[in-house]
Amino acid sequence: MSQRHFATIAARAGIAQDSAHEAVTPPMYLTTTYRLKALGKAGAYDYSRSNNPTRDLLADALAELEGGAKAIVTNTGMSACVLALQLLTPEDTLVIPHDCYGGSYRLFTNLAERKRSFKLAIVNFQQGDWAERIQAAKPAMIWLETPSNPLLQITDIRAVCQLAKTLGSKVVVDNTFLTPVLQQPLALGADIVVHSTTKYINGHSDVVAGAVICADQVVGDELKWWANCLGITGAAFDAYMTLRGLRTLLPRMQQHQANAERIVAFLQQQPLVSKVYYPGLPEHPGHAIAKTQQQGFGAMLSFDLAVEPALLQGFLDALQCFTLAQSLGGIESLICHPGSMTHASMSAEAQATAGIGPTLLRLSVGIEGIDDLLADLAQGFAVLEAASQSGKPKGHSTGNLASDKAAAAVTDAGDTAGNKQEFSPSLSLSPALTALW
Ligand SMILES: *Cc1c(COP(=O)(O)O)cnc(C)c1O
Repeated sequence: MSQRHFATIAARAGIAQDSAHEAVTPPMYLTTTYRLKALGKAGAYDYSRSNNPTRDLLADALAELEGGAKAIVTNTGMSACVLALQLLTPEDTLVIPHDCYGGSYRLFTNLAERKRSFKLAIVNFQQGDWAERIQAAKPAMIWLETPSNPLLQITDIRAVCQLAKTLGSKVVVDNTFLTPVLQQPLALGADIVVHSTTKYINGHSDVVAGAVICADQVVGDELKWWANCLGITGAAFDAYMTLRGLRTLLPRMQQHQANAERIVAFLQQQPLVSKVYYPGLPEHPGHAIAKTQQQGFGAMLSFDLAVEPALLQGFLDALQCFTLAQSLGGIESLICHPGSMTHASMSAEAQATAGIGPTLLRLSVGIEGIDDLLADLAQGFAVLEAASQSGKPKGHSTGNLASDKAAAAVTDAGDTAGNKQEFSPSLSLSPALTALW
């Protein structure tokens, strides 16, 4: 079974397994509870928090796709992260990358600082001394996210896993950006994969959910126990929808990626684009590693514009096929301004250090017709070109928009009062920590 092609595993997820009526497409079991035949004679299912047939079909498909022994389907991507952390005790150290997903960063830092759930060491895996830092931290768990967000930085999963083995540390990889179609962390030596299935796995921007996939059955059983205990297992309806999305994962990823490659080539020709961030580019610092550990470069990319930040709104307004929104991985193309959206809680200095400039834009490239996407960007750039030549923002006032505020905050070095907390190493907790995402 584990030798089946991704396309087959995904397309046949849950298909023709209905023992009650031989339904080809599996029914959705919304029931919360299950009848006992007699006292002491419970069936395979007793209560849907613990187990649910629809959710189990999705878990089995995800375990097979990632090459794991067991998968647990959770109600959000964040609860998938919470679940993996149950393996840690207060004596343990967790290593996290400095540029992990903001919601994960908030979870790790708050659990470590406010709850003393574990000790935390933040490592920049792009710097040459990451191995020494990990050795010094002696972590029980190392968390990886590659490619990272929004600059698509690559971490060498094999190298980290080799070091982790010598230290007895578990390696968790957040595989949300690539999915098992383009990267299989367990095959590279990782112990656990987490997903926000909200993104590419479901792929239609209509379910928020997550999953944890374990290489080891015993670890999987322990985490399944915790998922039930904590009450963070996924809903049957969400599992049904996600199964439906999952069946087209491979053709979707192929189309996402083919479109992304064309857009990268287009952006490279644009005079107003100062830099394109995409691991598929030979000059990308992680390109060589990406080639050895990924089956493709994915469909997330970012680029910097060589214009005044005040001109961004005119560009965004001109776009018809790229919707201004957070999140990623749906069949529709999205555009995001990390400085004011996904990474707004970083201080201006922290953003600058992380390379997130005021004119950085991130695309989640969808599966629309590529000619339409390119034409849309082309007319957006034409508007931008005209505005930058005339030297002032095009059209209406943009003073009340979050992007302008963030852009202003980033350009005005004095204004950091409102948002200087999330990424400072000595964590000062601010209400803003709970306000975002
Ligand atoms: C979205 C996301 C999460 C969190 O998932 P939710 O489904 O929003 O709870 C975690 N990691 C990454 C990389 C994500 O993109």
